[in-house]
Amino acid sequence: MEAVFRNARLTAGGPLADLAVGGGKFMGVTTASAAPLRAGEVDLEGRVALPGFIESHIHLDKAFLEERRSNLSGTLPDAIAITLELKRAVTKEDIRGRSERALGLLLRHGTTRARVQVEVDPIVRLRGMEAALELKEAWRGRVGLQLVVFPQEGIERQPGTGDLMREAMRMGGDAVGGVPYNDLDPERHLDIVFRLATEFGKDIDLHLDFSDDPGDRRIESVVRRTRAAGLQGRVAVGHLTSLGAMDEGTAARIADLIAGAGVHVLPLPATDLFLCGRGPVPPRHRSLTPVKALLRAGVNVSIASNNIRNAFTPSGRGDLLEIGLLLACVAHMSGASERVLIPPMFTENAARVLGVEDRYGIAPGKDADFVVLDTLSYNDIVIDQPEKRWVVKGGRVVVENLRETRWAE
Ligand SMILES: [Zn+2]
Repeated sequence: MEAVFRNARLTAGGPLADLAVGGGKFMGVTTASAAPLRAGEVDLEGRVALPGFIESHIHLDKAFLEERRSNLSGTLPDAIAITLELKRAVTKEDIRGRSERALGLLLRHGTTRARVQVEVDPIVRLRGMEAALELKEAWRGRVGLQLVVFPQEGIERQPGTGDLMREAMRMGGDAVGGVPYNDLDPERHLDIVFRLATEFGKDIDLHLDFSDDPGDRRIESVVRRTRAAGLQGRVAVGHLTSLGAMDEGTAARIADLIAGAGVHVLPLPATDLFLCGRGPVPPRHRSLTPVKALLRAGVNVSIASNNIRNAFTPSGRGDLLEIGLLLACVAHMSGASERVLIPPMFTENAARVLGVEDRYGIAPGKDADFVVLDTLSYNDIVIDQPEKRWVVKGGRVVVENLRETRWAE
């Protein structure tokens, strides 16, 4: 036995638990003992403990580019153009430095695993992939990384990208990324992505639609392809804001299709709210995939930061709890019975996106990754926004945060 964390709150109403960890795993999760605290044991004093947060969709390589140039129009075409221009000048060291700043924020806020979108194209070539592979090794004991090979500039639009993607998959890509809306022919883009994933036996992680157009039905093609390739449970789509623009009946029917194909949906609210809903003519709406309709249909929904401070998302502190509050407000989920559905979106549901459920969670034999929140109220995590008192990775405390208020006399 290497360490014991006493008096953890794992559920809203159940008894407190003691967590014994050793060899990087949970060895025992038992009802809290009444015995006096022994040397080396940590008393959590009834604070809530959640499994380590999972950032299921994050771009480290373009983090903090907001400091070089802001996207003042707030449109998607400008976000793509500004980032492309800045990308021409980046070196591997630059990518690595900004990525490490972002990873530090993620870890500080409780994230112990992340799925990282790594840009691969004839401009940046494989520099981002090389930096990401170095980071994956260097951060192994703090934030476990999965790498998605992502053709942000399109595949056919930037000739040579397909070959670079194949090379990046050989180097160690964990999933094939895609962005059909930013290529010459979205369907041919999907052909290439699905072929590559099948060839390497890996997951698919797409940026899908990102429009306010109710007529954009690209998701139906993704569902069909997922079934045909036998990739149920292994395809994720980010954004999917078009679904939020459709009438309720159509959205519900498509949500059923998504659930049936086991496609994961990732609302990325900080980005969706910044870039979309800016059409020239009313009616305008706050763009977001219809989270409640997706949950009703049984779709696995996971939220993520997507970006930290760049032309796609000027805000962000790498704090998934904060993204949870944003979602609660914008998806009408702040009420008591609905806000409890949000923490799973950056814990268990996110683990399903990454395909790590067998190692994930606070239970014997699972990886001892967890976050202790400075609150006693399990049901109010999202509205309390408690400090992440301790972040534990592989049974080891890797971050301790203290928030102190001093009142004047
Ligand atoms: Zn993204």
